[in-house]
Amino acid sequence: MDLHGSLKKYFGFNTFKGLQEKVVESVVNGENTFVIMPTGGGKSLCYQLPALMKEGTAIVVSPLIALMKNQVDAIRGISENDGVAHVLNSSLNKTEVAKVKEDISNGITKLLYVAPESLIKEEYVTFLRTQKISFVAIDEAHCISEWGHDFRPEYRNLKHIIKAIDNVPVVCLTATATEKVQEDILKTLGITDANRFKASFNRPNLFYEVRPKTKEVEKDIIRFIKQRPGKSGIIYCLSRKKVEEIAQILQVNGINAVPYHAGLDAKTRVKHQDMFLMEDCDVVVATIAFGMGIDKPDVRFVIHHDIPKSLESYYQETGRAGRDDGEGYCLAFYAYKDIEKLEKFMASKPVAEQEIGHALLQEVVGYAETSMNRRKYLLHYFGEEFDEKNGEGADMDDNSRNPKKKQEAKDDVVILLNVIRDTLQ
Ligand code: ADP
Ligand code: MG
Repeated sequence: MDLHGSLKKYFGFNTFKGLQEKVVESVVNGENTFVIMPTGGGKSLCYQLPALMKEGTAIVVSPLIALMKNQVDAIRGISENDGVAHVLNSSLNKTEVAKVKEDISNGITKLLYVAPESLIKEEYVTFLRTQKISFVAIDEAHCISEWGHDFRPEYRNLKHIIKAIDNVPVVCLTATATEKVQEDILKTLGITDANRFKASFNRPNLFYEVRPKTKEVEKDIIRFIKQRPGKSGIIYCLSRKKVEEIAQILQVNGINAVPYHAGLDAKTRVKHQDMFLMEDCDVVVATIAFGMGIDKPDVRFVIHHDIPKSLESYYQETGRAGRDDGEGYCLAFYAYKDIEKLEKFMASKPVAEQEIGHALLQEVVGYAETSMNRRKYLLHYFGEEFDEKNGEGADMDDNSRNPKKKQEAKDDVVILLNVIRDTLQ
């Protein structure tokens, strides 16, 4: 089968991104496949294209209903038959379920999106076992692991359905790079033989800047946004209260912003998310509740009003910028007293958890206070060496554009030594 021809035919793209072609080949060949690619790397296509090319239906497991809907709409947009992609979940009535089953039986449905909790339903399992299933794709596969940053107990049951459908190839995709999570996923699903593909975590189009957080932080943010009229962006805050406050300040200043956090009712959350996706608003001010799997290609900036609790979180959140390879400005406001605040939050947790939390926070401090190339610092955290002279995106951060003077750099070293000493204590 001609991969490039199919890529062009179904998606209109002329070339594969990064490792996509190798991954697609592995999936088309029916082999177990494990894919680690940063957010925006183009993981969806790694299972969507093989699904469209292969006989039978691919089952896609994904944690968010909004995200599934999003993808189904996108796939339907490129096909003549709406039946090409379906969502199967508890919101469907009997007639709708019957239609989905009919399309699968007739070989029309190429992609079936299912939430992990629906997939274990006896009725569905019994039905799916008798169908031609091309493979099972598990998106955001780190949800299987308790070592990951977003463990979902429902994901644990996936191994049963995989067993139930004899010999079905499995494709796992995640943006989590830690070794521990990877091993956990492969073991849990019993696919340690999988072909593994790990892309670089470098996002050359993202610009990284850290600014001291002063009393002027809100003015700074407003100025930043006003310099980018009509551009989409996300502002992350630690608390719901801060989200509401900043959203209001922005609105008062004529910026089209909406709040998003888990304290809002589901309807409002969906509405605000859709407004952002449909460009009815420019800015979402949000807690970390917002973002996983949001496929808006042209988010032009991600601002952290509050520094997150780990570099992994920072990387995931900033990764939502510039997914179309266009501009993506990542601006973090940093004050050491925010770190102290985060430490305080942890005080009530078990000691072991506190220790991990503390170590993760010290990495954040290191990143915020470094005078090093920030991309190099981030990539080092993910076990990757970055060439700060010739690497892609080498000059895309504040420190490279405006190197600090020697004395400041020395001060930084002293700060860093203090951090290391603190960590060791
Ligand atoms: P991920 O799930 O890895 O975060 P997505 O699958 O959401 O990434 O893809 C990110 C963006 O990249 C999407 O806007 C998608 O349309 C685009 N994209 C994916 N593959 C290609 C390609 N081969 N050429 C151009 N754009 C692509
Ligand atoms: Mg994705």
